[in-house]
This record gives sequence, structure tokens and C-alpha cells, in this order.
Amino acid sequence: MAEHPKTEWQNVAQAELEAALKVTKNTNVAKNVILFIGDGMGLPSVTAGRILKAQETNRRGQQPLFSFEKFPAVGLSKTYNNDRQTAGSASTGTAYLCGVKANYGTIGVSPAVKRKDCEASKTVEGKLSSIHKWSKEAGKSVGFVTTARVTHASPAAGYANSADRNWEGTTEVAEGCKDIAAQLFDNVDFDVIMGGGRRYILMDNQTDPETNTRHSKQRTDGRDLIKEWKEKKQNAGKKAEYVFNKGQFDAVNPANTDSLLGLFAPSHMSYDLERDTTAAGEPSIAEMTRKAIQILKKNDKGFFLFVEGARIDHGHHNNSAKRALYDVLSLDAAVAAAMEETDEADTLIVVSADHSHVFGIAGYPSRENDIFGLVDIVPEDEKPYDKMPYTTLFYGNGPGPDRANLTDVDTTHIDFQQPSGIRMTDDTHGAEDVAIYARGPMSHLFHGVHEEHYIAHVMGYASCVGMNKKHCSENRESTTCAGNGLTSSFAVIVFILAVFFNK
Ligand SMILES: [Zn+2]
Repeated sequence: MAEHPKTEWQNVAQAELEAALKVTKNTNVAKNVILFIGDGMGLPSVTAGRILKAQETNRRGQQPLFSFEKFPAVGLSKTYNNDRQTAGSASTGTAYLCGVKANYGTIGVSPAVKRKDCEASKTVEGKLSSIHKWSKEAGKSVGFVTTARVTHASPAAGYANSADRNWEGTTEVAEGCKDIAAQLFDNVDFDVIMGGGRRYILMDNQTDPETNTRHSKQRTDGRDLIKEWKEKKQNAGKKAEYVFNKGQFDAVNPANTDSLLGLFAPSHMSYDLERDTTAAGEPSIAEMTRKAIQILKKNDKGFFLFVEGARIDHGHHNNSAKRALYDVLSLDAAVAAAMEETDEADTLIVVSADHSHVFGIAGYPSRENDIFGLVDIVPEDEKPYDKMPYTTLFYGNGPGPDRANLTDVDTTHIDFQQPSGIRMTDDTHGAEDVAIYARGPMSHLFHGVHEEHYIAHVMGYASCVGMNKKHCSENRESTTCAGNGLTSSFAVIVFILAVFFNK
């Protein structure tokens, strides 16, 4: 890239300043709320992903923003759990969906419930409810999209009360407790459910529709959850569709579909980079998000949608930065699709991560250097002790290789694992804060350093659901809240009477 003259950089900053001066507060009531979580998408993932996006669009050396990085409100989220400095996806899901910090490994239960304590998780005090439930009680439609199993930790926090995130199916759950898959269908009346994870939902005598085989962890309780779901929806007068591949998904017409259940893989869905995009394959996270919104937004009272880019986390756990970062790009596309399908005036969109990873961007590479490449500028006095070249991307721990001579290694290959400082099976999560990006009604409430569970409270406040419902209708000016409508009608009557009696 050519050297930027001074004025060019000044223009960049001036344009940014002008845009910032135009930002106004949106205090409307949020008819719709969409929460995007990039699982494990810490700030290094966003920065490296941004550089990758520039490379991908032939703007190598530039750093164009992701769709969500243009949002007017940005804050930081402190992701620690009730009992750990570094968080896991179960307790963090509980934080941003239920509004309470919980113990590591627990889902939708109070911090009084210790991990694996089945009895405590069944008590009234032990159970938490999520914004899915609050929104449903307010008459809204609700749904979620994930690229992991639909019973995996993050989405499960939206509907399950489980003392252990691993109790996904009947073969895993502790005796006396209900598995997460059954809770998915019993606890919240979802209008849209999409992701992977058929293995915990199919009965043990059924064969998988794609693989024609049986998986080891299928249900042993005799419940046919898919059939039950369809019947329940049909009995309620809804047009319900169950699909398991992209061809069937593409054939679903949102205009005449009320409820959609998509289970696109026996376990997790594919990394976007390796996704089969044919009719027998899987829809992208952007395609799922767009269709989910098209179905949910038919409700006049609005909707709540949760979207998880789950496999960013899995790529990082395997020290596979390429898989992780391309999934950051696919999440960005999903946010862009949501922006197209909704109106900033009445829809709050929040984008964040549940926690970070021990993933880093190092050295002083040139602006044009491939993000997956070796650092291209290493003067003699900055060379490592062993004098060998090193990659820009690296991990603090995980299964990546020990220090080796990478001179003739293709570090841009999909299967290349970035080097790891401490070698172990999976890299661990990182404990530093992650970013919260927001636009739409009440997005300015994300303005500083926040507790992660504050996200659920703001989303509830913005859309007048859950524990902030009353507070919301007392203080807000919009008339879309039922309570506000009454208050303003009352004010009009008082005004007319006052005018009348003053005559
Ligand atoms: Zn993880």
C-alpha cells in the first residue's frame, strides 16, 4: 500500500469525528432485541478477523470495520464467573441471558447451586429464567440460532436449569434430573430453533436422516421430541416445519411458516470455511439469522432472538486460528443480515462475546503481511534467541506445536496450528474483558465497563420485559409499551379536564 499523506489520515479522523457528533440517544422501546455472541471472540479475534477481512476483500493493509464495529455504543464486559476468574460458556450464557452470574459449568441456575448438584438445581430458588421466557410472557416470539449443538452451553442457558452443562442427553444426565434436550422442548415455547445436535434429540431406535446410522448418545427415555414438537405446534394452530439440510431449509417460506426447527448436524455444525454449501449441506449462520428474523418479525409484539457464532471458540481451543477467524467473518455477515432485516428505530442489536481466549497477535509485521503468515519485518536486534522466524498469531496454551523452524512451513494452511506456549489438549479461555457493541433503542446504556450479566438487564429494560418491565413503563416516553399508552391517555384526559374547568 502506498504511503498515506498526512491529510489522508486527518480526513479519516475528521470523518470519524463528524459521525460521532451526529450520534443521538435512541430512547424508544425496543420492539425487537437480537443478541449476537461470538463464542470466545475476544478482542484479538476481532482485530485479527478485521485484518483477515481486509485481505479477503483485496484491501490488504487496510482495516475496514466489521458491521458491528460501526455501532454507536461500545462498552466492555467483565466476564468472570461467580467462582472463577476465567469464565466458561455455561455460566456466561447464564449471565447474559438470565442476568445472574453463576458457577463455572452450570446453566440457568443460581450461584447457590454448585456444579453437578442435581437436587439444588430443581428447587424454585435454584432455577433462573431467561430473557426468552420474559419475552414470551410479554407476547413476543422467541428463537435462537447456533452453529453448535442446540443443547450446547450457550443456547442452553436460554431455556435449561442444569447443574452441569454436560447433561445434554439422557445418557449423560444425573439420575433424578432432566436432560438439557428434553428441557429445550419442555421449558420455553420457542418459535425458531436452529443449530446442530440431533444426537441428543433422536430416539435410540431411530437412524440419523443424513448418516443413516445411529449415534451413541441418542435418547433412551422413549420420547420422540421432534414429533412431540410438531404436534404441539400444530395443536396450537401453527404451521411448523422441521428441516435437517440446506435444501429443505431453503425451501421454507417464512411467509407461511410460524415455527421452524432446524437440526443440521448430528453434533456441531461445520466451521464456515469447511461448510458443505450444497442442498445436502448446511445453511450459513447469516442465512439462518435472516430466515429466523423473517419468521419472528411477523409477530406484532416483536421478538427476541439469540444468535451464537459457536465455533470461533472451537477453532481457538484447537489452536486453529484460520477456522476461528473465518467464523468471525461469518458472524459479521449474520449481523449485517440482521441489520438489513430490521429497523434501528425499534430493534436493539447487541454483539458481544462470552469470554476471550489465550490468543495473541505478535511482532511488528508490515501492514500488508498475511495475517496467517510469518512476521515479515524482523531486524537483527528484534530476532528471537533461536533466530528462527515466527508467526504473527500464537496461543498462550493449547495443542499447537512446540517451537520449530517454520522457514519452509505453509503457515497459511487450514490445518496449521499456531504455536502454543504451554502444550495441552485444548487451549483455555482468556480472562480479560470483551467488547459489547450495540445499536438501536437504549444502546447508549452500554457506555463503560460493565458486568456481563448487565447485558440481560439492559435488553430487558429496552424491550420492557422481565424485572425491568414496571420501571420501564413508568419512566419511558414511548407509547408502544402498554403501560405507557395508558399513562399518556390519562395525561390527555387530565389536560382536557383542566382546560375545561379553567374556562
Ligand atoms: Zn470454550
